[in-house]
Amino acid sequence: MSKLEQSIARAQEYLARFKDKPLLHLIDGKADAGTGTTFETLSPIDNSPLAKVARGTGAEIDKAAKAAKRAFLSWRKTTGEQRRELMHKIADAIEARAEEIAFVECMDTGQPIRYMSKAALRGAENFRFYADRAPQAADGLSLPTDTHLNYTRRAPIGPVGVITPWNMPFMLSTWKIAPALAAGCTVVHKPAEWSPLTAALLAEIALEAGLPAGVLNVVHGYGEDAGRALTEHPDIKAIGFVGETTTGSAIMAQGSQTLKRVHFELGGKNPVIVFADADLDRALDAVLFMIYSLNGERCTSSSRALVHASIYKEFAEKAAERVKKIKLGHPLDPATEIGPLIHPRHVAKVLSFADAAKQEGATIAAGGGASSLGQNYVEPTLFTGAHNNMKIAQEEIFGPVLTMIPFADEQEALSIANDVRYGLTAYIWTRDVGRAHRVAQAVEAGMVWVNSENVRHLPAPFGGVKSSGIGRDGGDYSFDFYMETKNIAIALGDHKISRLGV
Ligand code: NAD
Repeated sequence: MSKLEQSIARAQEYLARFKDKPLLHLIDGKADAGTGTTFETLSPIDNSPLAKVARGTGAEIDKAAKAAKRAFLSWRKTTGEQRRELMHKIADAIEARAEEIAFVECMDTGQPIRYMSKAALRGAENFRFYADRAPQAADGLSLPTDTHLNYTRRAPIGPVGVITPWNMPFMLSTWKIAPALAAGCTVVHKPAEWSPLTAALLAEIALEAGLPAGVLNVVHGYGEDAGRALTEHPDIKAIGFVGETTTGSAIMAQGSQTLKRVHFELGGKNPVIVFADADLDRALDAVLFMIYSLNGERCTSSSRALVHASIYKEFAEKAAERVKKIKLGHPLDPATEIGPLIHPRHVAKVLSFADAAKQEGATIAAGGGASSLGQNYVEPTLFTGAHNNMKIAQEEIFGPVLTMIPFADEQEALSIANDVRYGLTAYIWTRDVGRAHRVAQAVEAGMVWVNSENVRHLPAPFGGVKSSGIGRDGGDYSFDFYMETKNIAIALGDHKISRLGV
């Protein structure tokens, strides 16, 4: 048996539990079939059904929200040390089941194992990071005046809703859920309908590790019914959402009646700006990695390469040569660099950009079509000779597709970089220190990397500006979202109080 065949056999063992009975919601610590209606999650490899999944409605959301509300009464009273201990146990259990999580994730999302094996471990790291911060979550500031001691305390906001997308479901779920639990909030999680399996594993792992019933609930289903009901539920105090910009707008409207606090991590059309003085070999490696890894289904992908005109031709030719050699294949094959995209509907969307590129007069320097490997496989694609007003330069494609645009000078690079509705990340390649700082400060993005691909540091803020998001995750920033800050003012003496009605 080849290594790939062995991995497929292992994956089938992990998936066997989903074959015979539907994957149910987890509400108040118990598996819950809800109304009994189900939907299918498909394997992107061949679009065959992997599992039937309970399809939640407003009724299951209501049940889960009420369970989260009940559980909040005791979970909020646990000490930070107790939450720390429990969350480390969850991290231990994630690590113990890392292979299962990674294999199931690959089969449900089509993401290559070379990235997913690390994603499971990163999920554990998210839990450990916030576990260690739980004891300080409620800490506030001391803000004294001559007459008063003002001090602040933070308290968990209440039961919260977490809504996640299909592209990196396990890692993103832990990224949102771990700080909520560390803060003392309880959670109702609505995973994406195209890749719900590992969210169920996470909830199961947490429960087995000792998380009390009702603290983490999972309701599966579609955005327009389960997702919508979660955002409208009066007992849910905040929505942590990762997904498309248009969905963020809908959630803001849906949550307005109940004054939901929202945190949005949305789409991107991120520029990587390559100046002529950069280390061009490293810049090319980073440009390619940041758009073609994770199937290009990555919010922080460098989907627009802005390259100085003096090096554009050579850089584009080298890029095209490399792109043509990127290896498509089965997600469980360790050699695979790009796997199948999530769903035929998404494939159609991604491929439609090749037509747009032709119509708009850009050059397809590599790829541009479907691959013969299977319905969901898309050739890694490079568009060159593009202008920033083209659709391929403005819209998020969310696939292995790079648009390369020349620029004449620093000013033009900046104006192209900023001329999009999005502002999540930006990447800058230059050896000129002054220019690196100037451009980093002027580019409209929540996160900027200079001479680097995306290297995350968990205490640092993560989030976007413009249509890429509202709010920041990471470090203490997540606690600001999941907690209410209270100011307490104590008079230090007999300060003057105006006397009325004397
Ligand atoms: P999506 O917005 O279609 O769906 C995300 C989630 O929202 C799903 O669980 C879906 O069921 C739910 N949903 C849909 N409509 C809803 C509604 N009306 N009310 C409540 N919930 C609803 O996004 P997607 O296609 O799953 O994911 C891809 C998008 O996510 C891309 O735009 C990508 O850039 C973005 N993303 C952003 C980040 C980030 O950190 N900024 C990270 C990953 C993905």
